[in-house]
Amino acid sequence: MKHLYCSLFGHKYVVSKKVTYHVKEYTCKNCHEEVTTNGNGKLTLLTPKHKEINSVLERIHLKRIKRQQLMFDR
Ligand SMILES: [Zn+2]
Repeated sequence: MKHLYCSLFGHKYVVSKKVTYHVKEYTCKNCHEEVTTNGNGKLTLLTPKHKEINSVLERIHLKRIKRQQLMFDR
């Protein structure tokens, strides 16, 4: 069931996790509904499938950052 405040005023999303520069996970401060940025840059419900995709994206993203830092150290 949706929080009354959310159905009246909309969700108050706060970033719960940064997956990549473009993809983030959000949690609603009021009802704790979780959403994520999808491939179109829009918000969509954070399903187990999306969590899986995001964890893969995050791993790739972290690897890329690490590689950039290594190059920077040289
Ligand atoms: Zn909400």
